Amino acid sequence: MNRYDVIIIGAGPAGLSLAYELINEGKILIIEAKKEPHKQIACAEWVPKLKVFAPYKISQTDFMEILIGKEKIKKRFPGYVIDREKFQSSMLEGIKADIHTGERVLIVKKDIVMTTYSKYKAEWIVGAYGPYGPLSKHLSIHDFIPAINVRVALKKRLTHSIVYFDREILYGYAWCFPRGDMANCGIGAKSRNLKVLLKKWLQFLSEHDYIDGLSYTNAHAGLIPTSILHKTNNPKHILIGDAGGFIDPLTGAGIASGIESAKIAASLIKGTIKINEYKEYLEKSYLAKYLKRRRKRRDIMERKWNNLKEAIEKSWISSYQG
Ligand SMILES: Cc1cc2nc3c(=O)[nH]c(=O)nc-3n(C[C@H](O)[C@H](O)[C@H](O)COP(=O)(O)OP(=O)(O)OC[C@H]3O[C@@H](n4cnc5c(N)ncnc54)[C@H](O)[C@@H]3O)c2cc1C
Repeated sequence: MNRYDVIIIGAGPAGLSLAYELINEGKILIIEAKKEPHKQIACAEWVPKLKVFAPYKISQTDFMEILIGKEKIKKRFPGYVIDREKFQSSMLEGIKADIHTGERVLIVKKDIVMTTYSKYKAEWIVGAYGPYGPLSKHLSIHDFIPAINVRVALKKRLTHSIVYFDREILYGYAWCFPRGDMANCGIGAKSRNLKVLLKKWLQFLSEHDYIDGLSYTNAHAGLIPTSILHKTNNPKHILIGDAGGFIDPLTGAGIASGIESAKIAASLIKGTIKINEYKEYLEKSYLAKYLKRRRKRRDIMERKWNNLKEAIEKSWISSYQG
């Protein structure tokens, strides 16, 4: 059986960031179920305006137009829409680790990882497998919001992003994020009929002259975790990125926080933080405190959903007022 210091399950932004942080820190193995993990990802590609994302920027958005039914509110909300495929493949090139793609982890037991092809042993096992994986078996569908994203042609270039709220888009929203001449448009909601809602959203955007017709490409769907999952029973099993619940439960943005969670996990593996101090350290971190505030705002939004304007004002809009 091959032995490693660290096994990372998943080569998304969180897993790759951790491997990057652990360069020269021992023998690392990344096990990734997909053959080409940087391709065909369900993502609207919006990220906060941070230096790390600048080389992959396709569009910049300084404002967000928030539509609540017929009401329109404009707020400053700086960000980029990036080429996620380029971003992830460049991360993949920058790390030093054994990478097994096209191999799925089935079971993790203590220090043993069993996959579709083999068995491995490691001191540290890190779940960076996205919303659901071998260490998250206890979760149910209620812990997630389904979301779908498609690529459409814009009628004219947009310099801001658009989000749209409607009672029917239950506890979620519709988005349109400019990507050069194109846009990433989608819906994330606790509704069963996401495809119907998406069609209505595209019709709305087309009728308001934002997009050029209703045809789309790159349709991909996924799940957005809304509960905190960053605990495991084994102190040497760590969850990062979506697997650890490090994703904004209000907006569904998880790329930046996934990267941040990997940095914290790297400090634990490197020994900068002691095992018995990790939980406390994590809870005191800016990231955990921020996500806790966002979860509170999500609860407010869900509780007040029957009065949509108030729900959005008290969650989304108050977010931009500090
Ligand atoms: C429709 C949609 C739109 C989104 N839009 C945005 C956005 O605009 N901005 C933003 O910041 N976030 C967005 N997100 C969220 C964002 O995509 C995630 O937060 C981010 O990808 C999390 O990164 P990660 O590394 O934790 O997991 P992932 O990117 O999900 O990577 C996990 C990897 O693990 C692999 N894997 C899974 N199970 C196993 C297994 N058992 N064995 C081996 N490998 C496995 C998967 O194949 C995958 O490659 C969106 C999500 C959805 C669904």
